[in-house]
Amino acid sequence: MTAQVNRHTFDEVMVPNYAPAAFIPVSGKGSRLWDQGGNEYIDFASGIAVTSLGHLHPELTAVLHEQVDRLWHLSNTFTNEPALRLARRLTESTFAEKVFFSNSGAEANEAALKLARRYAFDHFGGDKTGIVSCKQAFHGRTLFTVSVGGQPKYTEGFAPLPGNLNHIEFNNLAAAEAAINDGTCAVIVEPVQGEGGVLPATPEYLKKLRELCDKHNALLIFDEVQIGVGRSGSLFAYMHYGVTPDILTSAKALGNGMPIGAMLTTSKIAASFVVGTHGSTYGGNPLACTVADKVIEIINTPEVLQGVHKRHQWLKEGLERINAKYGVFKDVRGMGLLMGAELQGELQGKAKDFVNAGARHGLVVLVAGTNIVRLAPSLVIPETDLQEGLKRLEAVTAELLEKAKAAKEAQPA
Ligand SMILES: *Cc1c(COP(=O)(O)O)cnc(C)c1O
Repeated sequence: MTAQVNRHTFDEVMVPNYAPAAFIPVSGKGSRLWDQGGNEYIDFASGIAVTSLGHLHPELTAVLHEQVDRLWHLSNTFTNEPALRLARRLTESTFAEKVFFSNSGAEANEAALKLARRYAFDHFGGDKTGIVSCKQAFHGRTLFTVSVGGQPKYTEGFAPLPGNLNHIEFNNLAAAEAAINDGTCAVIVEPVQGEGGVLPATPEYLKKLRELCDKHNALLIFDEVQIGVGRSGSLFAYMHYGVTPDILTSAKALGNGMPIGAMLTTSKIAASFVVGTHGSTYGGNPLACTVADKVIEIINTPEVLQGVHKRHQWLKEGLERINAKYGVFKDVRGMGLLMGAELQGELQGKAKDFVNAGARHGLVVLVAGTNIVRLAPSLVIPETDLQEGLKRLEAVTAELLEKAKAAKEAQPA
């Protein structure tokens, strides 16, 4: 018999590093979710920008079933067909010539940063170890990636941290010029900062980083864990910007929910990882690679990618419509289907309230910090679901504004 579990079970048996919603989703289809009580939700989160083709996409389910009945696991003592097919597809559709597979975004970035240090060590000796990254950046939760990330609250209490890291202001050309020098081995940047507030890099900024990296023999790493695999409206955001990195990392949407990450690079740089330099037990496992290969096949088509631009427009117009009525957004921004609505006035700092009230209205949304409501729906969300989600978002906005005003009036003058 299956044991009964509910939200209280979480507090009893789970390490308390998350604060999950009060409801527990148990099934999904496309852009809809259902919880234990049978309540239905429109999904504007996709996990956190993970299920980009929606829940239970029939083609993904089909290839996964096929592979489940064939072979689950081999160590990296062997290679496997799904990993090779996926690597070939990734190299054929990007600048990259070589691929390393991991199980998450943090591990893909960990590999990228280690490779950059190793490449500098091989070609320029032991002193070129500096890593430049951006404030507010997010690169994962391993000790190395969290230290390279630009949010001090995530490293508090974890010292001693890896050394020779330098955090600069995002989108600031002069700061980049001042920080990048011959001692720099790598510059890592998210083309669109996700966790940091849904902030796209300016084209000039990424071009400047490319120039400075070339000038100082440093490797340029694009962390596309969140914005990659179609979410920007291009297969990878670097294509939209026309700035090619030396190393690109992917994860999240790559497996549409199957745990997989990838580090993409050139043959010349890849040569610094030789047999034994780096590895992962599960990296490149047949189940995840089978699904990811189908994900890229489906997403890297004009229909899906052009569909992202169309949906971006619908979403943007919907948010602007809500704002015209309630005036709660200071800014509506983002790229493709990674959108952020920055709050102001009565709702300033209340992004999390949108998540909680959303649950009651049958809507799943994300936050980026305390003041930005983040939306990352499926890239193939049907127009009816998207409009229904916007309707629910408007109801949430109206309710929160009402409450905030009532609370203000209840305060003694
Ligand atoms: C989520 C995220 C990561 C970390 O990925 P995990 O799979 O959680 O390790 C790294 N970089 C960016 C930009 C992300 O959004």
